[in-house]
Amino acid sequence: MNAQKRQNELRIDRLNAEKRLPRKEWTALLSTWDDSDRAYAAGIARGLADARFGHNVFVRGIVEFSNVCRNDCLYCGIRKSNLNFERYRLTEAEIIECCDAGYEYGFRTFVLQSGEDASWPPNRLAALVRTLKTNHPDCAVTLSVGELERDEYQLLFDAGADRYLLRHETADPEHYAKLHMPNQSWERRMQCLRDLKEIGFQTGCGFMVGSPYQTPNTLAKDMEFITEFRPAMIGIGPFIPHCDTPFRDEPAGRVDLTLFLLSLCRILHPDVLLPATTALGTMDPAGREKGVLAGANVIMPNLSPEQVRAKYMLYNNKTAVDVDTHITTSDLQARLRKIGYTIKVSRGDYGETSC
Ligand code: SAM
Repeated sequence: MNAQKRQNELRIDRLNAEKRLPRKEWTALLSTWDDSDRAYAAGIARGLADARFGHNVFVRGIVEFSNVCRNDCLYCGIRKSNLNFERYRLTEAEIIECCDAGYEYGFRTFVLQSGEDASWPPNRLAALVRTLKTNHPDCAVTLSVGELERDEYQLLFDAGADRYLLRHETADPEHYAKLHMPNQSWERRMQCLRDLKEIGFQTGCGFMVGSPYQTPNTLAKDMEFITEFRPAMIGIGPFIPHCDTPFRDEPAGRVDLTLFLLSLCRILHPDVLLPATTALGTMDPAGREKGVLAGANVIMPNLSPEQVRAKYMLYNNKTAVDVDTHITTSDLQARLRKIGYTIKVSRGDYGETSC
């Protein structure tokens, strides 16, 4: 065994034992890792996930209800400046219909995601959350609609929303500035995350792997942020360029690094809800299965109506896991069974174990 590999295994062991690493150890690990380190981390990560969740995977049905966005994130296909595609907004009735169908298929969590769309102000969204929670009291509702004021988050929480996903995108303010427009503030995004957690949401942060200007050092800061923040969920997927954004010619993020980071997140935070993301499944047809084997325990099939799917194009070639039958008899279930896992019909809350 060469000395570098041994050092990285020691770093991974230390992370497992202490649930943190000093910044320079993170940077060294993320600068020098290789495939055997990735496999070593995956073995530990999968063991930790299996001990908590058994061979079960939680599913969430995602409804992408509006692709209208006031922001101009340089990486994102639905950025305001992209005029090359059709915008859409689902109505309340359409969203409710998607969730009703999802309920019949066995979903017990609905994720409502959109751009930052002024025609969906918090009071309108709160009314929708109330309806969904009345229709399906045994379900969780997750929101992912971007940055709001604290009292607006509180309104949504009081309406019954259980969880909120807001990727921090990068824990390095200078890196953040290179991915966003000057009117977008890293401090505000971080404040939003603190507000969400304080209000009581099961809060998710996360970042793209291989975003332009990302370095082992910015990734080390991401891992430090996750260590301190202790999110309930972490969304990590590869950056994938979109042809109508300023980052069209940038290389996509690597699948193997994404898998390594999923494993490191599991080791750092064994209880966390960790999706094998759509972006991972887009980069590699077996990406979701590989994600589960690396320590992920959540998959988010798409419940959006067929006719709008192609319009929620955050990046090129975005795929979806489609479930239009009960999840226990779905293709996704068959794919998971092949790797020894099965879908659990439940809300899949943070802290819920399924062994
Ligand atoms: N507007 C909400 C927000 O800001 O959190 C939710 C929607 S936003 C489009 C969801 C996530 O998509 C972002 O947090 C970002 O990490 C991811 N995303 C956007 N463009 C991407 C790309 N080109 N490749 C991979 N992920 C991307």
